[in-house]
Amino acid sequence: MNRWVYLFSEGSKEQKDLLGGKGANLAEMTKLGLPVPTGFTVTTEACLYYLNHGDQLTDELKTQVMTAIEQLSAKTGKKFGDLKNPLLVSVRSGSKFSMPGMMDTVLNLGLNDQTVAALASNSQNERFAYDCYRRLLQMFGNVVMGLDNSTFEGRITALKKVNGLSFDNELTADHWKQIVSEYKELYRKNLQREFPQDPIEQLYLAIEAVFGSWNNARAKTYRRLHGISDDLGTAVNIQEMVFGNFGETSGTGVVFSRNPSLGDPGLFGEYLINAQGEDVVAGVRTPKPIQVLAEDMPEQFNQLKAICENLETHYQDMQDVEFTIEREKLFILQTRSGKRTSKAALTILLDFFKEGIISEDTLVSRIEGKDLEAALHPNFAETALKNRVSFLSGLAASPGAATGAAYFSADAATEAKARGERVVLVREETSPEDIEGIAVSEAVITSRGGMTSHAAVVARGMGICSVVGCERLIVMEEENQATVADETIEEGTILSVDGSSGKVYFGEIPMEEVGHTVALDELHTIWDRHADIKVRANAETPNDIETGMALGAVGIGLARTEHMFFEKTRLLQFRRLILADSLAERLAVLKELKTVQKQDFKYMYEAAGGKPTTIRLLDPPLHEFLPRNAEECREVAKELGKTFNEVKRKTDNLAEVNPMLGFRGLRLGVAYPEIYQMQAEAIIEAACEVTEEQEFSIQPEIMIPFTIDAGEFAHVRQAIEEAIQNNLRDNQRTLDYQIGTMIEIPRACFVADQIAQHADFFSFGTNDLTQMALGLSRDDSPRIVTQYLEAGIFEDDPFQVLDKAGVGALMKLAIEGGRKVNPQLKIGICGEAAAHPKSIDFLNELGIDYISCSPFRIPQAKMTLAKATV
Ligand code: ADP
Ligand code: MG
Ligand code: MG
Repeated sequence: MNRWVYLFSEGSKEQKDLLGGKGANLAEMTKLGLPVPTGFTVTTEACLYYLNHGDQLTDELKTQVMTAIEQLSAKTGKKFGDLKNPLLVSVRSGSKFSMPGMMDTVLNLGLNDQTVAALASNSQNERFAYDCYRRLLQMFGNVVMGLDNSTFEGRITALKKVNGLSFDNELTADHWKQIVSEYKELYRKNLQREFPQDPIEQLYLAIEAVFGSWNNARAKTYRRLHGISDDLGTAVNIQEMVFGNFGETSGTGVVFSRNPSLGDPGLFGEYLINAQGEDVVAGVRTPKPIQVLAEDMPEQFNQLKAICENLETHYQDMQDVEFTIEREKLFILQTRSGKRTSKAALTILLDFFKEGIISEDTLVSRIEGKDLEAALHPNFAETALKNRVSFLSGLAASPGAATGAAYFSADAATEAKARGERVVLVREETSPEDIEGIAVSEAVITSRGGMTSHAAVVARGMGICSVVGCERLIVMEEENQATVADETIEEGTILSVDGSSGKVYFGEIPMEEVGHTVALDELHTIWDRHADIKVRANAETPNDIETGMALGAVGIGLARTEHMFFEKTRLLQFRRLILADSLAERLAVLKELKTVQKQDFKYMYEAAGGKPTTIRLLDPPLHEFLPRNAEECREVAKELGKTFNEVKRKTDNLAEVNPMLGFRGLRLGVAYPEIYQMQAEAIIEAACEVTEEQEFSIQPEIMIPFTIDAGEFAHVRQAIEEAIQNNLRDNQRTLDYQIGTMIEIPRACFVADQIAQHADFFSFGTNDLTQMALGLSRDDSPRIVTQYLEAGIFEDDPFQVLDKAGVGALMKLAIEGGRKVNPQLKIGICGEAAAHPKSIDFLNELGIDYISCSPFRIPQAKMTLAKATV
């Protein structure tokens, strides 16, 4: 014999597959001794059997249902169809996953022309009895017979109008009687049949309707959209009715055990006096906030509060609870985990941990990236976003959301900002020259470039939201406009940019109210206890460093010294350096540059407060700094006091067909050792001075980029060492420092054992390593990568998720080589791909010491690293 039916007293919360979510939780609450009206559940298996066997209720099922009904009768002292004390039940659907609005509920089942009279005389409340009956007629008509709800509602509206009444609770017993006879008429007219008077027939029809609704079109669509299997089926819960519509000492409501939008402790919800079922959500009257119940019915309020706290502790989660009060007695009708905002989610988890409801491991494992992200950045209000359609999308390069007026150049953006406007910078791509324009913007959009493009990197560093690589966007900078298909963006067009989803909208979108912030510091302490791999920041400006430290960085993993030259006057000095004609001219510029660099480094060390700091020597693809056209050459010539021809010739001379594979990193160090020597001296002097001035001491980590070969590295290291030693000797100082290298060229991975003989540490640069390993340009490849993702050739963008098979294998090789020579070799990774949640497991495998990422990615990275340990 198959078992198709379980009493609430027989099930538990673990049985969601069999009993559905609602049924399993009703059983669990019954087991906990909570005041749940008695009932039973017809299983999801019964539903599937029904659907697979010709949509027929079997005799076996019917027998089991009738047995359960008898048990209900025994417990309640009421009987189905009884003329003295009729049993009324609700028939409630409930599958494993809640599917809102999918399969509906029938209340007050068991009423008919006779039992309604019995209920009336029995309760001495005729109005109540006929209110129940009309509700049954309507719900049964709608859910089981498929009649339109509005047909029924229309009758009530008309009756209220005739009588000059506004609310349902003002209608009298006679009014409801009239509605009942009108409803019955609707059955005859629309269905050519009478409303079934036999309670058992009502029950079977209702069960069949719930079973059948599993396969209705709405349900199927919902499941498809939410990735829910079609093979689960729905359970049916049959439960004794309790009546919130009995009068002024009855009511019904819905509460959350904590505030679902902010996470504050304490009940949050609404209730209605003299109401039943979904009146609260249906908006027939305005419900009262749950706190009013504390005054209206303090005893019931306190009981409800205690039950909610009990449920929270039991489920270790915030609960969404349905309750009904019948003549001052409280009943619980449903509990489930409550939906909440990101901010509430984090606050609630932390509070649960502090209140001892969950363990630290549970806290760590339950924090979700999307909630953390949302807590760190401003977001568009979810409700507002729902009704908006984006006209443009690209790569979600830097999270957050912002609205502003479109401008197409850094200068225009800066001017608009000065006028007090909020600005969205729209560019084909950005370059170091745009840095100030980016800094004043609320958001940056580009049509070209990938996750590691200039715009993406800079925006992330500044915490400005950004969408890059918008393929359909055509930017016409000269005309001050851009187009997307047949839409045009003019200067001043208001755009809303969502850097978390990569979508762009026309017009303003309201932002989510940020009530209070989440205590991130507490989370960082907890994460640090869990993760073995440390997280450092990619940062060089004091602002970035402070942000990084505030967001939990344990040090700086990558300070890009070329980023220190993006500001206007420095850019000019830098151009003077690379356009210099002689060593003497270069040395003169270098002397000036050393002073400003030293100042920069002192700021950095101070901002980092003595935490480990890795400074990378210049790594420019030189073209990033060269004048880009004749006009710029003219400007630069004027500013540097050179002739146009000189500048033009020199610029042309330095131009490379493929600058990314050209004159950068160590190649620069070999050709112009004096540049790296200047930087190293600045680093060392700054470190000595800060150590003298502050309570902490600095042991700088000097990082040489782009190594190909051990001999090359040794050659440059020697030049740097010479400068450092001379400097220390001249100043009669000593200092601990390290000189290491970035590993970002495949060849370096193969000869890592040789390089490790000269280098004190390794740091993988995954952006370049990925570019080189795959032979895909990090700036131009988004189009290709998109194609590959669409065709299913790539599972992920290798610039976003570390490519384990290829890049990862190279890294393994390099680590093995390096540690063979120096088992203590410190190894880090800098690059956004490393911080991606999907890369983390692999990092643990690699045995690296730290990763370094842009400040706003740090919490996410720490969260993921900690999660991997529990
Ligand atoms: P949904 O899943 O759409 O919320 P429910 O089955 O929870 O549907 O029921 C709808 C409404 O009817 C809820 O407000 C619930 O509290 C109420 N309800 C369900 N069963 C009973 C019952 N036995 N007595 C009183 N109210 C009930
Ligand atoms: Mg519903
Ligand atoms: Mg419900």
